[in-house]
Amino acid sequence: MKKLFTLLFSIVSYGAFGQTTYLYCGKLIDGLSATAQQEVTIVVDGNKIIEVQKGYQTPPSGVAVIDLKKNTVMPGLIDSHVHITSETSKNRYTEGFTLNTEDFAFRSVGYAERTLLAGFTTVRDLGGSIALGLRNAINGGYIKGPRIIAAGKIISTTGGHGDPTNGYNHELMGDPDAKDGVINSPDEARKAVRQHYKEGVDVIKITATGGVLSNAKDGAGAQFTEDEIKAIVSTAKDYGFKVAAHAHGAEGMKRAIRAGVTSIEHGTFMDDEVIRLMKQYGTYYVPTITAGKSTADSAKIPGYYPPLVVPKALETGPKIQATFTKAYKAGVKIAFGTDAGVYAHGKNYKEFEYMVEAGMPPMESIKAATVSAADLLGVSDKVGSIEKGKLADIIAVDGDPLQDIKVMGKVQFVMKEGKVYKSVSL
Ligand SMILES: [Zn+2]
Repeated sequence: MKKLFTLLFSIVSYGAFGQTTYLYCGKLIDGLSATAQQEVTIVVDGNKIIEVQKGYQTPPSGVAVIDLKKNTVMPGLIDSHVHITSETSKNRYTEGFTLNTEDFAFRSVGYAERTLLAGFTTVRDLGGSIALGLRNAINGGYIKGPRIIAAGKIISTTGGHGDPTNGYNHELMGDPDAKDGVINSPDEARKAVRQHYKEGVDVIKITATGGVLSNAKDGAGAQFTEDEIKAIVSTAKDYGFKVAAHAHGAEGMKRAIRAGVTSIEHGTFMDDEVIRLMKQYGTYYVPTITAGKSTADSAKIPGYYPPLVVPKALETGPKIQATFTKAYKAGVKIAFGTDAGVYAHGKNYKEFEYMVEAGMPPMESIKAATVSAADLLGVSDKVGSIEKGKLADIIAVDGDPLQDIKVMGKVQFVMKEGKVYKSVSL
C-alpha cells in the first residue's frame, strides 16, 4: 500500500507523461490578461502546461528550474501568413526554372529553424506544396521548426496571382487546371478543394485579387466570381478547412467576405464598405505590413524585380500600414501575419514595431500574435495562451515589450511542446 502511495505521489509530482520543469517568470504576458503579471511560476510536464502559479514556487527535489526572472515570458508567437519554403532574392524569378524541388526543400529547413528560434512556434504557410513535407518532417522530429498549418498550392484563376505559370513564355505556360490550383468555374473550384484535401492540406488559400509579386500586370483587380469563391468556401467547410483570401483591391475583398472567407490577407485598398462587411461577417484582417514595406524597398533596387512587378510594389507596399490603422480603429478583428519569405525569415518581429507605430498598443499587438492568431488558425484549444492544459509553447524576451516593442526581436528562450530549442545568456 505504501508503495502504491509513493508511486501515486511521484506521478502527481513529476507528471505521468514526461519530465517536469518549473519556469520562473519575472514578467508574464499570458495572452489573456489585460496586464503583465510579476513573478509567476509555470509548471510544464511533458509537452503541456499543468500549472500557472503566483510567486516562485519551490519545486520537488530533482525537478529542473529554468530561471527567466529577468525576462518577459509569453506564449509562443504565431505568424498567420508566411511562405516558409521560399525567401526573397534577386534570383527568385529565374530559380523556378533552374532549381529542383529538393533544392527549395533543403533551403526551407533553414528558414523553418530561423523562424522557430525567432520565437514563432506556430505559422500558417499560405502557398506551396513543399510546406506539407516540411510540416511532416517537423512533426516527426526530423528537423527543427514551428508547427505549420499548411495551405499547399494556392487556388487561383487562369492568369491570377496564384497561377504558377504567370510570366512564362507561351510554350512553357501550358494550361494549368484544378490539380495545379487553377480554376475557372464553381465545379473546378470544388475539385481543387477536394484535391487539396487529398494532398493533406490544413487550410485553403485563394488569391481573390491580383498581387504584387506575380509577374503579371494586375495588382489589385478581382480575379474570382463570387460564385467561384462560394463554391470554394462551402466545399472547404465539408473538410473542416478555413479559407484565407489574399486581396488588395476592394471589389475582390467584398466578394470574398460575402462568400464567407475566414480572413483577408494584406487588404491594402480596403474601403469603408469592406470594413463594414468585415465587422458584419467577423472576418479577420491579416495585415502583413512588413511585406508591404520590404517589397517597396526591394523595388528601388535596380533589377531586383521584373519590370511588371516594380510599379505594383512601389504603389501597393507603402499603403498597408495606413490601412492597418484604419481597420484597427474601426474595430476589425486583427491577427498577426507578416508574409515572411517576401522578406528574410526570422525577422517576423518587425511587424510588432510597425503595428505599434501605426497606433496599436504593444499588449494588443502581442495578443494579435498569440490568442487572436490561434483563434484564426483554429488552434485555440492547444496554443495561443499560457494556461493550464495548453501545449507548452513558451518564449521569453530580453526586456519589457510593453515599454519597448523592439525587444520582440530579442528572443532569448524558446520552448515548443515542452522542448527547449533556445536558451541564451540566462
Ligand atoms: Zn503571402
